[in-house]
Amino acid sequence: MKNNRLTPVEISKEEFKKIGYQLIDSVADYLHTVHDKPVTKGESPKEIQTILGNATLPESGTPANELISRTSDLLFNHSLLNGHPKFLGYITSSPAPIGALADLLAATVNPNVGANILSPMATAIEKQTVKWLAEFIGVSPNYGGILVSGGNMANFTAFLAARTAKAPKAFKEDGFGNTSGDMVLYCSKTTHTWIEKAAVLFGHGSKSIRWIATDANNKMNNEVLISTIEADVKNGKKPFLVVGTAGDVSTGVVDNLSGIAAICKIYDLWFHIDGAYGAPAAVIPKLKKLFDGLEEADSIALDPHKWLYSPLEAGCTLVKNPQHLIDTYSSHPVYYNFGDADNESSLNYYEYGFQNSRGFRALKVWMALQQIGKSGYVSMISEDIELSELFYQEAEKHPELEAVTQNLSITTLRYVPVGYATGNNNAETYLNILNEKLLNVLQVGGEVFLSNAIVFEKYCLRGCIVNFRTSKKDIEEIIAIIVREGRQLHHKLQEK
Ligand SMILES: *Cc1c(COP(=O)(O)O)cnc(C)c1O
Repeated sequence: MKNNRLTPVEISKEEFKKIGYQLIDSVADYLHTVHDKPVTKGESPKEIQTILGNATLPESGTPANELISRTSDLLFNHSLLNGHPKFLGYITSSPAPIGALADLLAATVNPNVGANILSPMATAIEKQTVKWLAEFIGVSPNYGGILVSGGNMANFTAFLAARTAKAPKAFKEDGFGNTSGDMVLYCSKTTHTWIEKAAVLFGHGSKSIRWIATDANNKMNNEVLISTIEADVKNGKKPFLVVGTAGDVSTGVVDNLSGIAAICKIYDLWFHIDGAYGAPAAVIPKLKKLFDGLEEADSIALDPHKWLYSPLEAGCTLVKNPQHLIDTYSSHPVYYNFGDADNESSLNYYEYGFQNSRGFRALKVWMALQQIGKSGYVSMISEDIELSELFYQEAEKHPELEAVTQNLSITTLRYVPVGYATGNNNAETYLNILNEKLLNVLQVGGEVFLSNAIVFEKYCLRGCIVNFRTSKKDIEEIIAIIVREGRQLHHKLQEK
């Protein structure tokens, strides 16, 4: 090190190697023993607080090696391990190991991917990542876009682009001051909560959301969509956006996307698809038909940190005509000197979304896409779906389980004690209580992690497999765990 300034932040080359190798050793150990650990120890916030301690802000420094080993211990031994093969909760994947190395590399070089001049290679890599993601899900590689922190941000980013595209020309200057207060939007009842945040965040208010009823298959009812749009137009409202869902968060249902696309054409509305969870499944040849219409969307949100197994955080907004992002997000303050915006060669991501300084989250996605390849993803995603189908079938076969739904890689089911007559009100009330308590027991038990869904008013256990470590054996064991704990809980509740 040529630098002769001594600072407390610097780590000598020898020291860095030593503690770096140590860390890599413990990461490798972790990755190869995760299946032997409990998914969670179920420690309470109070217990966690005690383990962490409540020291005040450190006045002086701690040696890096001590810090690394203590921190590894805290995290490896007191975390909920979503890399565990029996973690099937919410929609969080086991993270691809290459992502951990990619993040190390990204943090080392630390490109600011807000401006091309600050991140020449990283900007090019992000651009390629966006193009590959478009190819992955089977839409034109001419879609442009940006990597963001996750599904919510990906949807927000598209929402505002839709608003800019469909609002009166002067909206960016006038805001809601003039006539645009009557702008309304449409989505199915199953749409994720981001839509409410967006309506509030961008000033439309939650009443601007038209929650369209679902049909018998839990897809948005497109007939109701049409009649609702027509009623709004008649009443002087200004429809601007329809949101279709490609894999709803509770049960994995994909809306009739090509039907929605046709409706958007007729009424000149922006068609956004929330594919945060499900869009990657469009890569499976057998499922192509289910995703018909994806390629017609004006914008698509997807979430590499879900079914592309990227470590948190990575989301992506794709826009058919990326100029809409620039129209929405570009501004040129005097203190920026990031080159000629008309020059195609200088792509500045600060003009594509909300963030200014931006990290290099594209790298872990880009590296995983190459390490795994499209065919590797096709087999992993297919296997996740097959395991979810197995989960459903095993539940269906079992006399004490009721299989409720199965779509993409999400299965919902519930525990029903032997001889229980379902359907009458008292029985249903009891089953809802029983299954909610059962979920709580399972979630802290550490053997398996499931989440819940309410389906047709039934409180269900829900398993979502975006987990390349889950195997058939895990599914069989999970079935046995649910039944064992269900029985025990039922007996306990009967004794009271
Ligand atoms: C997960 C999910 C979101 C939110 O994504 P985050 O990455 O959690 O912000 C939005 N929509 C759908 C359909 C999802 O599955």
